[in-house]
Amino acid sequence: MTKHVYTFGGDRNEGNATMRNLLGGKGCNLAEMAGLQIPVPPGFTVTTEVCTLYIAGGQKLPEDVKAQVLESLKWLEGNRGRKLGDVENPLLLSVRSGARVSMPGMMDTVLNLGLNDKTVEGLAKASNNPRFAYDSYRRFIMMYSDVVLGVHKDLFEHEIEKLKEKTGKKLDTEISAEEWKGLTVVFKGIVQKELGKPFPQDPIEQLFGGICAVFDSWETDRAKIYRRLNRIPDDWGTAVNVQTMVFGNMGDDCGTGVAFTRDPGTGEPYFYGEYLINAQGEDVVAGVRTPQPITKFQAEGTGHQSLEEAMPAAFKELLATCNRLERHFKDMQDLEFTIERGQLFMLQTRIGKRTALASIRIAIDLVEEGMIDSNTALTRIDPDSLNQLLAPVFDPKEKAAFKKNGKLMAKGLNAGPGAAAGRIALSAEQAEELAKTGPVVLVRIETSPEDLAGMVAANGILTARGGMTSHAAVVARGMGKPCVCGASALNIDVKAGTVNVGDITLKAGTDFISIDGSTGEIFAGQLSAFPSEVNQVLVEKKLDASKSELFQRFNKIMTWSNGVRKLKVRTNADTPHDSDVARAFGAEGIGLCRTEHMFFEGERIIAVREFILAKDLDARKEALKKLLPIQRQDFEGIFTAMNGLPVTVRLLDPPLHEFVPHDEAGQAEMAKVIGVSLAEVKHRVEKLHEFNPMMGHRGCRLGITYPELIRMQMRAISEAAINVAKKGIVALPEVMVPLIGTVKELAFTKTEMLDELAAVNKENGSTFSCPIGTMIEIPRAAITADKVAGEAEFFSFGTNDLTQMGFGYSRDDSGSFLPEYVSKKILEDDPFQSLDQEGIGELVRIACEKGRATRPGIKLGVCGEHGGDPRSVKFFHRVGLNYVSCSPYRVPIAILAAAQAVLEEKK
Ligand code: ADP
Ligand code: MG
Ligand code: MG
Repeated sequence: MTKHVYTFGGDRNEGNATMRNLLGGKGCNLAEMAGLQIPVPPGFTVTTEVCTLYIAGGQKLPEDVKAQVLESLKWLEGNRGRKLGDVENPLLLSVRSGARVSMPGMMDTVLNLGLNDKTVEGLAKASNNPRFAYDSYRRFIMMYSDVVLGVHKDLFEHEIEKLKEKTGKKLDTEISAEEWKGLTVVFKGIVQKELGKPFPQDPIEQLFGGICAVFDSWETDRAKIYRRLNRIPDDWGTAVNVQTMVFGNMGDDCGTGVAFTRDPGTGEPYFYGEYLINAQGEDVVAGVRTPQPITKFQAEGTGHQSLEEAMPAAFKELLATCNRLERHFKDMQDLEFTIERGQLFMLQTRIGKRTALASIRIAIDLVEEGMIDSNTALTRIDPDSLNQLLAPVFDPKEKAAFKKNGKLMAKGLNAGPGAAAGRIALSAEQAEELAKTGPVVLVRIETSPEDLAGMVAANGILTARGGMTSHAAVVARGMGKPCVCGASALNIDVKAGTVNVGDITLKAGTDFISIDGSTGEIFAGQLSAFPSEVNQVLVEKKLDASKSELFQRFNKIMTWSNGVRKLKVRTNADTPHDSDVARAFGAEGIGLCRTEHMFFEGERIIAVREFILAKDLDARKEALKKLLPIQRQDFEGIFTAMNGLPVTVRLLDPPLHEFVPHDEAGQAEMAKVIGVSLAEVKHRVEKLHEFNPMMGHRGCRLGITYPELIRMQMRAISEAAINVAKKGIVALPEVMVPLIGTVKELAFTKTEMLDELAAVNKENGSTFSCPIGTMIEIPRAAITADKVAGEAEFFSFGTNDLTQMGFGYSRDDSGSFLPEYVSKKILEDDPFQSLDQEGIGELVRIACEKGRATRPGIKLGVCGEHGGDPRSVKFFHRVGLNYVSCSPYRVPIAILAAAQAVLEEKK
């Protein structure tokens, strides 16, 4: 018999933290806490395997699962001395979802299960608190109807609003027992009207209904979107936790809240959290009432009473428990608790989500506190999140001016750091629409899981209600988006499409709003962004490293990574400026210097066009003479910037038609320059037209038909190297030929290059030489890499083209079908973003193996976009490349990913 149900707490604790896959994150940690003798209300967990069985079986619970649930329930009833459905003293349950990894807001929880018209009376008597009993019952009807029966909670909330209007009461806590009781009758009426049948009174039916609803919620659209965004496999499933209720809504000696052992926004080592007196857990997360701070420190100056002051004994125990759990799990914890009549219960603990800033700070602090070592710290940081450290912030001067001009609209909570400015969207749909044409800030009273797609599309998120742990805040932090929440001063009028504070009224769809997620400030209008501190220290060199803690932490992560990684990290850069930036971020050379970018600027494009439109070889050579000094000078700049580091130069690659003018004015200008008629220029431009330029006359094919072109480039490179050497600069160019498919293409090109090099050396009395290699970006070249390596001194994998040619997907046209391929799961990812390891990766692997067989020790690198994608970087490490190359701002990301690749190997 398979065990489908595991009990936790009391005298039968069957799980522990190692059983995450089976029991889900919530379930396994409840058992772990119970095992540590931490007060956890006992219950049982239905495993994630049952979720898969349930879905495969057509949304039906297998009989043996039902039997095991009933058996565990019996144990629980014995343990509690109360029975589910007992009319004197009923046991009440919560039914909670819990997948392997937390999916905030994705799956729904049902509280107070077991209440019906009879048991509610029993609860009122047993607790001697009818108000509490009916408050619980109305919550239960509403949640159960919404989550299990599919009757939208708005219908019920509307009735609460009506009641408040009628009685003139503002807060839930002011509503009396009788009033709640009256409302439960209205609520049941709504269910009868909507479903044509009564609200279920049988507690066992309620229980199985609740369990099935959790499994069903695994299949909702919003859960699927979340899984896709977070790469969570569909077959993991969720567990269901059925747990004894404890009550935070029994009076003013009760409460409920959430806590973090460290600040999830900044990572500062302060105990941090929010709570509500006389409330149930959902009130805190849902953002219905704005919660109060937990600690005195946090409450200072807010006018709120902290838990530390309101319930000092419970607070002390909470703090001690949280610290113990942090030390136990060796990471920052995110916890949920409830206090019932002064007694503390822990309801959840998990590794807390945090901002990029916080994850770095916490990882480093834990090393310094001796809890973890530096290698563990490196594995705790998502390489992509380093992006946020380099992301711009608002220009402080401009911000000051905005403030002076009365454009500071309001201040909310600084829930997700970073600066965002964009047009206002008041709904998720509007955010998606506006995002097509520019940056958007999603402005909502509060967000719910239905807003997810809009939150993805938005650059920043702003809410009027809810605290640091509201849906908006948690999801925004997870996405790394700037977020300001709980800005209660904002008047959001969805119907009129406006956001207003005082005399400022902004129109959605047209007006801009700017939010600073690090300070909580909200400005009318569009502020411009300013480089981050890391950028100011490294690139602008305007800020002293010792003055920036942020930089010092960034630097520590880089230093630790450098001590571990084996892959070198180079950059893709075509200008001295980009080279400088990349070098500042730690690049160890240039892996791709595209020469065509040098062709476009200013006057030089005219000379390029002269070459392309020339009628014969002599005319072409004339044009190249004009280009030579320009290219040479560019290379001198780059070699100087990269002094002592290798620079891989790629010979001209794109099809020539990309350079010629296609408008009449441009063509007329060229006609004048080369002294032919406009008609003749038109004719020559037309001749360059190709049906499929990506597979046309480009790459090494250009050098084979116009050897004088690559000779000029080779001359520019070698003369530049010789020139800068005279100034004591060490230039280390490595020249590569693009787009070869057969070794003979390379052999032909190489002969021309070496011949030109010999000529340059002869003229200068020099002995300059440099490695000549090739790109591997055509499948044929990968497959015949053993032959290619006979000529090539190094390989650089151009994984963009290799993906394009390997899949046969045009990079420029795949937008019309690739997103659907991903959503329909034909492909797991966009292969242009993250390398297709199974197919394109296999080409890379074969080429590495064959290349090394011919030329042991051949230098291998990658220069496609994938060089900055952490998962691809780890793959490149595993196949044994020497380096990856990526855009300057992704260099730190690749550095950390390369270190993680080594650490993952050791595991
Ligand atoms: P989520 O995964 O969305 O956080 P949870 O299962 O943690 O959902 O439940 C939401 C809230 O319900 C929790 O914050 C907690 O306060 C409350 N809750 C859950 N189970 C119980 C319980 N047994 N007793 C009291 N409150 C509970
Ligand atoms: Mg929930
Ligand atoms: Mg929870």
